Amino acid sequence: MKKNILLIFTTILFLSIFLYFKTTPNNKPQSLTNQNINYYKKENTNRYNLYQNKNKHLKKEDIITYVNIGIDKPPYTNTKKAKFLNTTYILVNKYNYLDKNYIPKNLDTINRNFSLPNKKLVHEAKIAFEQMAQDAKRNNLNIRAISTYRTYSYQKELYDNYVKNSSIEEADKYSARAGYSEHQTGLVVDCDNKINYYENFEKTPEFKWMQQNAHKYGFILRYPKNKEYITGYNYESWHYRYVGSIIATYIQKNNITFEEYYVKFIDN
Ligand SMILES: [Zn+2]
Repeated sequence: MKKNILLIFTTILFLSIFLYFKTTPNNKPQSLTNQNINYYKKENTNRYNLYQNKNKHLKKEDIITYVNIGIDKPPYTNTKKAKFLNTTYILVNKYNYLDKNYIPKNLDTINRNFSLPNKKLVHEAKIAFEQMAQDAKRNNLNIRAISTYRTYSYQKELYDNYVKNSSIEEADKYSARAGYSEHQTGLVVDCDNKINYYENFEKTPEFKWMQQNAHKYGFILRYPKNKEYITGYNYESWHYRYVGSIIATYIQKNNITFEEYYVKFIDN
C-alpha cells in the first residue's frame, strides 16, 4: 500500500514538472539585443536600433535581414568586395562589388540554337540554361539568351551611356555601375522569345513557362515586382540568375529575394 502511494506521488510529481515546462511560455523580452536569430550580427547592433526606430512596423526578423543586406544605407555606400568568388551563390548588388579584373572561371559559349552569337555563361549555368531552353522548345516555346556575361569595361560603357542620355538617378534604376553588375559573374541571362522586345518578356508564354519551371533548372527571376526596395532594381521580367536548383526552389517557394536568402543562409 505504501509502495503504491509512493508510486502515484512520484508519477504526479513528474507529470507536473513535464507540464510546467511544456506550457510555460518563453517570456523573455524580444529585444533586438538577444541573439535567438542565428544571422544576428553583433557589429550591426547600432544599425538595427536606428533602423527599428525609423521602421517601427517591421518585425525584428525583417530589421535584422534588411540591415544585414545593407538597405538601411543608400545604394553604393558602405560597399564591400563580393565574397564567394567563382561559386553559384556569390552576391553582387549595389553593396557588393567585383574587381575590375574579375573574370569568372569556366566561361562557356551557349549553343547558338538558344542564344544570340557568342554569349557566354559559367559552364554549370550554361548547361542548365540549354537544358531549360531545350525542354521549353518541346512545348514550342523559344527562350533565347540575349545578354549574359559582361566584362567590367563593357558594363562601364553601358552605364556611362545611360547617364549621358538621362541622369545618374535614372541610370541607377535600370543599369548597374561597373563592378556592381551581376552580369559580370557569368551566372546571369537576359532572355527574349525571338519575337517580342525583351522588355515585353512578361507578356509572353515563355515568361509564363519560366515562372513555373525556371527554378527546377536553378534559375530565379532576380528582380521581382514589389521587391525593388530590397534588390535596388526596377522589376525585370527578362533577367534570370543561376543559383542552382536547391536555392532556386527555396526562393521560389518562399517568395523571397536572393538578398534575403544570402543573409539568412550563406553569409550568416
Ligand atoms: Zn540583366
